[in-house]
Amino acid sequence: MNLMVLGGGQNVGASCYFLKLGKSNILLDAGIGIDKEGLVFTPNLHALKTSPFINSLSQIDEIFISHAHLDHVGYLTHVATESTQANTYMTAVTKALTKYQLYDRVYSNANARELERLATKSVLDRIISVTYAKTIKFRNYSATFFPAGHIPGAMMILFEYRNSKILYTGDYSIANSPLTSGCFDFSGFKIDTMIMCGLHSKHSSYAKNQNGIYKTIEKIYKQIFLGRSVSCQVNQLTKGVEFLKLLNDFNQQDILIYVDKNLLNVIEKLEIPILHENVRLYNSATVSDAPHICITSKKVTKSKYYNMNIDFSLHVDFSEIKNFVTKINARHVYIVHCEKPFSLNDHDIEQAVMRESDCRSQFIFIDNQEIYRL
Ligand SMILES: [Zn+2]
Ligand SMILES: [Zn+2]
Repeated sequence: MNLMVLGGGQNVGASCYFLKLGKSNILLDAGIGIDKEGLVFTPNLHALKTSPFINSLSQIDEIFISHAHLDHVGYLTHVATESTQANTYMTAVTKALTKYQLYDRVYSNANARELERLATKSVLDRIISVTYAKTIKFRNYSATFFPAGHIPGAMMILFEYRNSKILYTGDYSIANSPLTSGCFDFSGFKIDTMIMCGLHSKHSSYAKNQNGIYKTIEKIYKQIFLGRSVSCQVNQLTKGVEFLKLLNDFNQQDILIYVDKNLLNVIEKLEIPILHENVRLYNSATVSDAPHICITSKKVTKSKYYNMNIDFSLHVDFSEIKNFVTKINARHVYIVHCEKPFSLNDHDIEQAVMRESDCRSQFIFIDNQEIYRL
């Protein structure tokens, strides 16, 4: 058993992990990243093709996608097109969201639009939907899928190979997130190895209530109170859905919220119960004169709006990670999707858990292009 990180090691973005279980070649996620200058970066597939394991993606047997955020699925068209022999597995909700995410990207990219659209369509046609708590048997291993919380459709994957249990968490949440309840409880599962997306694993100082999104929402309603309409630009559809839910949760006076067509389509298609009476389709000709909020993927250039660019992430905080890894108590925890410490005073999850007498886990912060034998 081997693990190689192709992207999304000790950074966020372009998550893609190669897992070798005996003869089976598996890819976990296929995301893109966007750096500080706004440039897209992708997983290093070349490193995999020049590794001891395979020399072409046509040797990949299965691709599993944990959830529909772009850092996990944004590069699927490319990866799945090259992986000519592989099926792609994800939940039905992730599939629906992925469709919007990938087509959205095609339409915002003017070059090679038609070719990219066709490639995306053929990749989407090859996706196999999986159901929570069901086990699928593959050539020499089996995989079972569990709710991960985080966003609708997100799944954790439990691989069983020979006598080993390996859990890939993807992004997960323990407490309820805007649109989901927390992840599955793995008490008693005796997991040997965990590959964990641990964004805040080096941030002992990070607690959830510091999350900027709540301050942003406060700021929005303050503008409304001052009599000004607010236009919120959200670049990812799934984030738009989460953001609408959060805005609604804090909307105490039935302020009108307008959303663009794409966003409304996703919400209707997924039957997410957030279409309250105060949510309307955005149309610049018919918006109300009263202060209101717009959520769109493109900037609204009307001067009456206070413009905000919305980005946020709702990930488990440090104490939640600590509880989670202590409960799973796997022998080895490979931490990926992990950011640098915020400050010199921050300690990491390994140092925090070392103090717990009954936790036997060994932590490995695995970086891009590193290979480990599991
Ligand atoms: Zn995510
Ligand atoms: Zn992520």
